[in-house]
Formats: sequence, C-alpha cells, structure tokens
Amino acid sequence: MPRRRRRPSAMAAALALALLFPAGAACARKPAADPACLAGVLKFEHRDAEAGPEKPWATETASAADWELWSGTSQLATGRTDADGTFVACGGESSYADMRLRFPSASGDLSEVVTDRTKRARHTFDSATVTDVVGRRDVGVVEVPKKMASAWHIIDTLGLLYAKRAGTSSCWTRQCERLTVVWGPAPSDDAGYFDQGGTDAVILAGDMPDSEHVVLHEAGHWFQWELYGHWLPEADNCQVHFVESRSSPTCAWVEGFPDALAAYTLGDRRFVHEDGNAVAIDPDASWDTGDAVQGRVAGALLDLWAGPDGGTWDATIALMSHERSSTFDEYFAVDRPTADPPLSTTGEAAEVVEEWGL
Ligand SMILES: [Zn+2]
Repeated sequence: MPRRRRRPSAMAAALALALLFPAGAACARKPAADPACLAGVLKFEHRDAEAGPEKPWATETASAADWELWSGTSQLATGRTDADGTFVACGGESSYADMRLRFPSASGDLSEVVTDRTKRARHTFDSATVTDVVGRRDVGVVEVPKKMASAWHIIDTLGLLYAKRAGTSSCWTRQCERLTVVWGPAPSDDAGYFDQGGTDAVILAGDMPDSEHVVLHEAGHWFQWELYGHWLPEADNCQVHFVESRSSPTCAWVEGFPDALAAYTLGDRRFVHEDGNAVAIDPDASWDTGDAVQGRVAGALLDLWAGPDGGTWDATIALMSHERSSTFDEYFAVDRPTADPPLSTTGEAAEVVEEWGL
C-alpha cells in the first residue's frame, strides 16, 4: 500500500514560520515601545506671606498638578506631575508633527481651582508647541503665567494638607468629594470663607493665596464639614473673629480647628494673614481668656496632638469622622473617650487643657 503523503505536522509548520519570520518581527506593530514624549518640570511663582510683610517672591515646583498632552485637536494623554514637579507625557505613536501640554488648575479628583463661582471653569494655559517630536523631548521648565500662578499655589498648598489627611484612602474623607476653590486675581470683599450651603466651595480672591495659612484655614472649614458628614455646628457671634479674641465656644471650635489645621500642616504655629502679618499661637497678656477664644482652642489641639496623642492628629481625624462636636469642651470631655482606642482626658491631656485656660 503506497504511503500516503502526509501533510506537514503543526509543529513543522510552526518551525517553518519561525524560520521565515524571526521572533517578534512577524506580528509586531509599529514601535509603541519608543513613544514620543514631552518631559519637563512645572513651576510657579508666588509672593510668600509666610516670610513676612515684605512678601518676597518665591519659586516652587508644582506637585501632583494635572497635565494634558495634545497634538493638534487630539488629546493624547493625561496625568499628574510628580512630587518634584516633573512630568513625562507620552503619546501612543513614535512621532508627532506637533505636541503641546495643557495645564488645568486641578489635582485629579482631589482639588480644583475655578475662576468664578458660576462658570466653574478652571484656570488653564498651554505650553509652547513643539514640532517634529520623535522619542523623548525635554522641554525644560514650564512656568505658570504670573496672572494665574496663585491657582497653582492653592493646588500645591492643598496637597500639603492631603499628605497629612490621615488614613491611606485615595480620597480626602469617606465622602470622597473634590475640594473646589474659587479664586480670581481681582480683590473682593466677598471672599475669604467656606461657602457652606451655597457652592460648598472655598471662596478666595486677590492676594489671599499668598498666605498658605489662609488657604489651609479655609480648606479646614471644608475638611471639618466633610469629616462631619456635611455638617458644622451653628457658630454664635462668629461674623468677625480673631485668633486672640473672645467670640463664643461654638465659634472658637469651628475657627480654632482650622487654625490648628493650618499650623499643623505647615509645621508653623502661627496664623499668617494675606499681608504677611502674623499672630503666634502662643498667648500673651493681651489675649482674652476662656473657652470662647479660638487661638486657645487651636493651641490646645496642637499640644494634644504633639504630646498625649503621640505626635499626630490622626486619632482626632478618625474620631471626627464619626463624632460631631459643637465645642472644644464637647470634643475633649464627651467625644475623646469614644475614640477607638479612647483618647486620654486625664494626666498630660488634662494639663494641656488647663494650660490653655479651657
Ligand atoms: Zn474661618
């Protein structure tokens, strides 16, 4: 019986193909392995109120700031700058006739700065367009235009608070909402507050962002409101209030916490005004006495966190996410014992309260 001619086995066929088309070459697409990228560092200038009333200009790198990569009318990619302000923004192709970066004043889902309270548009600018990009092109320093630079100073300052927020979630709190700040360069009397129940945004204007304490204080109102599940106590006698002056126990609590938050975040125990004048959170004979003084509440919080609470505010932040307090006294005497594990109200903790006259 004649032998039938056998068809080549599958293995032989594969071998033949492998010989014809060496590894990878047969089915590799155009090289995405070496995409066209723009690399650089984002910087902004701001006047530094923390340095004193002369407010010297300072240059900083913009951490965790959003970027978009564009070619013509196509958005190729989005991302955020690294902690040192650097970015490497890559398209999907190996070359582009033109590429540019667009920077909106935002940091992912965490925070954004919008131009006004109705339009909710972000401050935005484009880098110079780079042509005939192949591989990685270094564009060096990209500087935020001066007229909108305070928006990036705000984003950067809020990043300092986010780093201190306590916990490891990718959100501010379990509400997981974005912090919106309204800011424009024109000065306004209707600014410098958290617009609770309105836009629920922090409203800033003009030179206010020169002070990181001011930015953090107002963000602190929003943060407390978030931790408390969209609630803040009714604050009596709180229209005008000062670090060293008597207002009311509720006002001292809702203003003292943000004062402490700003000092804690910056490691700078003062309240610094936008003009660079500052009040140390360290009472002297001119301070009012009692538990209706916000600076005393702030100082006691800072000392509790630094001492008996083990050097961090984390336990207080965790407590605030399930216990609302209307006054410092309620926070200390009623709510601290409900923390898990309980926060001390005796010994060193009681001494702190005594020292601050609360
Ligand atoms: Zn306030």
